[in-house]
Amino acid sequence: MEITKLVPKEKKGLVVVITGHGKGKTTTAFGIAVRACGHDLKVCILQFMKGDLYSGEWDGVKKMGCDIELTSTGKGFCGIQGNPYPYEEHRRNAQDAVRLAHIKMESGKFDILILDEINNALQLKLVDLDQVLDIIRRKPPLMHLVLTGRDAHPQVIELAHTVSEVREIKHAFREGIEPQPGIDY
Ligand code: ATP
Ligand code: MG
Repeated sequence: MEITKLVPKEKKGLVVVITGHGKGKTTTAFGIAVRACGHDLKVCILQFMKGDLYSGEWDGVKKMGCDIELTSTGKGFCGIQGNPYPYEEHRRNAQDAVRLAHIKMESGKFDILILDEINNALQLKLVDLDQVLDIIRRKPPLMHLVLTGRDAHPQVIELAHTVSEVREIKHAFREGIEPQPGIDY
């Protein structure tokens, strides 16, 4: 069977938001990155709230040899039990990530920019609404922008083209099952 590779008549850079309280936001974003890799697109991923706990995707993308540049600027989830870093440090990290997002966007090197957990960062006031809206508005027209994280702001949703909410039906955590490598991190 011959495989057809569709090409859109008009290319357009989309704003995609993956939000909700169910599991599957970050993994969706990495799924997009893997798919993009197949099309030889260049992907930049900035992880806002992650960096202190090892997650398989960091080495996963290297081992797959995909053209994915991944930077984790965070120090874990601000405010959750056991996270030792003060708010100011989380805010500084998130502000670094915002600056980096502009640098990556303006470099013109990337077809897709993924800002993982930026919605949480906004809700926790580690970044400001104007900063997120500014990133969206200044996005290069052909670059796709993916924003993940719980509780996406209504104004972010308003500006997006595609928005999905992942709803939790069940989560193993609620049965007291600890996070498992490959599935949860
Ligand atoms: P994933 O990274 O698996 O796609 P996610 O990005 O949708 O998940 P986050 O809110 O970023 O979800 O959560 C990060 C991790 O915490 C995930 O591995 C997820 O399985 C786990 N998690 C999600 N919801 C809960 C919960 N209610 N309790 C405990 N752990 C959770
Ligand atoms: Mg996530």
